[in-house]
Order: sequence, then structure tokens, then C-alpha cells
Amino acid sequence: MKPPRFRYLRAESVDGALRALADNPDSRPLAGGQSLIAMMNLRLVRPACLVDINRVAGLGYIREDGDGVAIGALTRHNDVKHSDLVRARCPLLTEAYESIAHHTVRNRGTLGGNLCHADPSSETPAVMVAVGATLVLQSVGGRREVAAEDFFQGPYETAARQDELLVEIRLPGRGAEGWAFAEVSNRHGDFAIAVIATTLRLADGRCEAARVVASAVGEHAARLRPAEDALTGGAIDDAAIERAAEAAAGAVDPHSDSHADAVYRRDAVAALTRRTLRRAAERCG
Ligand SMILES: Cc1cc2nc3c(=O)[nH]c(=O)nc-3n(C[C@H](O)[C@H](O)[C@H](O)COP(=O)(O)OP(=O)(O)OC[C@H]3O[C@@H](n4cnc5c(N)ncnc54)[C@H](O)[C@@H]3O)c2cc1C
Repeated sequence: MKPPRFRYLRAESVDGALRALADNPDSRPLAGGQSLIAMMNLRLVRPACLVDINRVAGLGYIREDGDGVAIGALTRHNDVKHSDLVRARCPLLTEAYESIAHHTVRNRGTLGGNLCHADPSSETPAVMVAVGATLVLQSVGGRREVAAEDFFQGPYETAARQDELLVEIRLPGRGAEGWAFAEVSNRHGDFAIAVIATTLRLADGRCEAARVVASAVGEHAARLRPAEDALTGGAIDDAAIERAAEAAAGAVDPHSDSHADAVYRRDAVAALTRRTLRRAAERCG
């Protein structure tokens, strides 16, 4: 299947891309094309113009950012997956990449494109929310920073305006935080049926802060606050983990589809919450 006709503009710089997006109100950036072209082929989206950002210099990098990491939006999945810096400073993202797509898709697809696509079953949004990432958006009018928690707004909907480019993803340093990612999917590399990404910070054996974030069981990646509340302030023992798992299952309102029904997805959320919390607690400190 071929996409509907569209105008093709190739940007050579960030400024050029931003100008093209501003001048063409029915345009979209084209990054790896792994999702956008498929959506166009299926007539799910019909942008009149694509602004190709693949040759824009300075949008593909992974570098230290204080204690954390800054990743250019055009960085390919496989470069993030195999980055020693990301593994050292945001191992939750590295762990999640074990479940994301296939080698050929990761060679072309970009982290920025993946986040802007905002597939409700995608793994990376859950990681971004769990670690408290910041997304840097740029337009001809300037730059702004959006917390990952506020970026994902619905299925395939984000806080980015049509004329904005996601330029950088900032992952904070993790200190002594514990972390774990787990998902259920039909086959390795498939989109998930349920995802949980967890971060935990303990002090004197008590939970100071917890994030339990779900994906694939709602309209977008979201914190499961009742599960977090069940953990904060207490010891992370079997009873607390069980309370959090039950709270997590009660906090989601999953859909049924041909891959799994809502009951299965809810049970998976409880199981993945248990599993990730145990691993995150072991990794604390
Ligand atoms: C077979 C297959 C399996 C896959 N499995 C998974 C999986 O398990 N998990 C998963 O998460 N993903 C999966 N994907 C999707 C893959 O990760 C895509 O690479 C990703 O979703 C989109 O990235 P892209 O760079 O290809 O973006 P594109 O397809 O080029 O763009 C996607 C959207 O983001 C917008 N966009 C792109 N870059 C920017 C930017 N810098 N600023 C603003 N807007 C931008 C585009 O306009 C478009 O709307 C799979 C894809 C395929 C084909």
C-alpha cells in the first residue's frame, strides 16, 4: 500500500525544520518513518506535507547532562539501547529496550519519534514518566520544557503543537534509586499487552518515593498513584508489595481487544507490579 500524495520538504537544520513546520500548518516531521509512513499507508493520518528531519545535524546524540543524560530526539533506538552512558545512568530505559521492537525497526526508528507517536502500548513513555524525564520542545517562537508526565495526553496525542519539534529528552540522574521494567506481550518485540515501569527510593529501610507507571492498559502511560501511596512511608516488604499490586490493578481501566481481554490485562498489571517492585527494592542503593 502506498501513502496518499504529500509534499516532501527536507530540512538541513533545526531552524529550517521549524520554519517549514510553521509555514505549512498541515505538516508533520518525518523521523524514522516506522510509524508515520504505516499510518499514512493505512490512511489513518493524511498530512499534506512531511518535513524530513533525518539530515538535520545536531539532533542525534547521547551525552552527560549533570548527573543525568541528554538524548537528541533523532537518536536511533539501537544507539540508545546499546549506550553505556544510558545503561549507567538510566538502566530502566536499557531494560525496557529488551522488549522494544525488532533490530531493523530500532535501526531506523528514533526515540523522539517514538515518544511523539505516543502509541498507548509503547514502552518508552512509561519509562519517561517513571524516571521523571523532561522533554524539550522547540518552535520558531522559542523553547519550552514539558515534564513527561504532562506530555502524554491520549492515544497518539501529546503536548507538542503542530509547529513544535521535540529536540531533546533529558533523563535525570537516579542516585540510589531502584528500578525495574516488565511487560507482557504475545511475542518478543511486539507491542505490549501490559507494561509496568517502577522506580523506588528508600531511606533507612522506608520508601521515600515510588513511581509505578503503567502503559498499554489505558489511553496513555500514567502513574498509578494508589499503588505509589500504598508504598510511600513504609517498608517494602511482601505485605506492602501485595497492597501496591492490588491498588495498581484497581487503578487501571483496561480495554479488551484481540490480544487480551480487560480481566487478563488487569491481572497482568498486578503481577507486573509485584515483579517490578521486588526487583526495584533489591536494586535500591
Ligand atoms: C514492526 C514494528 C514493531 C514495533 N514495535 C514496537 C514496540 O514494541 N514498542 C514501541 O514502542 N514501538 C514499536 N514500534 C514503533 C517504533 O518504535 C517507531 O520507531 C516509533 O514509534 C516511531 O519512531 P520514528 O522515528 O520511526 O517516527 P516517525 O514514524 O517518523 O514519526 C512518528 C510520529 O512522531 C512525529 N515526530 C517524529 N519525530 C518528531 C520530533 N522530533 N518532534 C515532533 N514530532 C516528531 C511524526 O510527525 C509522527 O507523527 C514498532 C514499529 C514496527 C514497524
